Amino acid sequence: MLPLVALVGRPNVGKSTLFNALTRTRDALVHDQPGVTRDRNYGLCRPEGQREFAVVDTGGIGGEDEGIAGATTRQARAAAAEADLVLFIVDGRQGASRLDDDILAWLRKTARPTYLVVNKTDGLDTHAALSEFAHYGFTDVIGISSAHRQGIDDLIDVILERLPELGDSAQLDNDPSRIKVAFIGRPNVGKSTLVNRLLGEERMIASEVAGTTRDAVAVDMERDGRLYRLVDTAGLRRKSRVDEVVEKFSIIKTLHAIEQCQVAVVMLDANEGVTDQDASVLGYALDAGRALVIAVNKWDGLSEYQRQQNESLLARKLTFVDWAERVRISATHGSGLRELFAAVHRAHASATREFSTSEVTQAMEAAYEANPPPVIRNHVAKLRYAHPAASNPPTFVIHGTRLKTLSDSYKRYLENFFRKRFKLVGTPVRFVFKDSV
Ligand code: GDP
Ligand code: GDP
Repeated sequence: MLPLVALVGRPNVGKSTLFNALTRTRDALVHDQPGVTRDRNYGLCRPEGQREFAVVDTGGIGGEDEGIAGATTRQARAAAAEADLVLFIVDGRQGASRLDDDILAWLRKTARPTYLVVNKTDGLDTHAALSEFAHYGFTDVIGISSAHRQGIDDLIDVILERLPELGDSAQLDNDPSRIKVAFIGRPNVGKSTLVNRLLGEERMIASEVAGTTRDAVAVDMERDGRLYRLVDTAGLRRKSRVDEVVEKFSIIKTLHAIEQCQVAVVMLDANEGVTDQDASVLGYALDAGRALVIAVNKWDGLSEYQRQQNESLLARKLTFVDWAERVRISATHGSGLRELFAAVHRAHASATREFSTSEVTQAMEAAYEANPPPVIRNHVAKLRYAHPAASNPPTFVIHGTRLKTLSDSYKRYLENFFRKRFKLVGTPVRFVFKDSV
């Protein structure tokens, strides 16, 4: 399970600065592209070689009203209440305030494990800054400077020590013959309808994979002679009438599903185009480097004219994931599902393809010869050799000189060249540039 850490505190204490310091995304390229929603409150922290966890900046959620109601809106409170660990962030420069007191009183009521983090200690006597908050009675407290990245690694150690024990989620991984698929998307796109349809009327033919905590459920299924494991399957969490009304879109559940799957099927509603929430779900899948298929659902309800309109709209809105296959389906009629699963297979095969060093170097040389990087202020980047570094997503290391000067557009050129040459569909492709000298 992916643990969740919530950043809670009044406005301006530095929550979003800390959020950025913890979740520095590895794929800066992706986020410069239009269409990717950036105002995200959830992110992943992936400490090198250690357990990863999700972080939620509760300050980014909801309004900007004064007082505790504004600082901890209903959604923010809900996010904090489902967290495995709450970081209570205060401002070391300003000391304790009334609003801090109120937030702390509320945090005590939630009874989530809480750790006090005194931010903005740069240039301060840390000991004195911490003692300003001694009356809060925390035995453990840490002083950091988010803006200067001081104490962030120590804070990550503190977080890792305090996360709950790993559950049995390893069981989800115990069958390499199955492709792990997650159907994700905002509410009402048709996830449950599709999953229930896939599993058939009789649930008996599908076996639930036990051993996961909370409500993460996996189900094994077979289709056209191939084996799948549906992770965090929406359709199995039977919605009660009440839940349906109050159920909020849980991003943490979406993140869980993304983490657990090999191929994410992001569902859209053909009637609605690409909403901000859709773009945000896509963004999370991209952040995680997941193989991706886009299922445009409810295709049945559209006239021919609407279909054409819809087609061009999607093509425009989804340029940032133009490598992902789009499949038109109808969950209620069951149409398009064969194509959908064929696309899942292609994405999985691309994401997990193995590469030899020589074919990667040859691809790099061919790309270089066809279009060498431009001379910038009398300097030119040289690509020397390359090798594969990881799969799922395919990651290539390119060695050379002055690679720091490579423009984003040249990097995109390389990516597209590699995609074409190796016929990679449905998977992100990553490059790591290493300057020798
Ligand atoms: P939020 O409202 O809690 O999300 O706070 P922000 O992250 O937006 O930060 C509020 C202000 O505090 C910004 O001007 C930041 O640049 C500044 N700030 C954040 N962290 C630090 C820090 O560690 N040291 C100093 N000196 N300023 C910081
Ligand atoms: P979820 O919240 O993503 O799990 O969405 P549901 O499966 O609950 O579906 C939301 C609504 O969309 C329901 O009223 C479904 O009947 C409807 N729906 C789902 N799939 C289709 C489809 O392929 N075509 C049409 N016309 N309606 C659909």
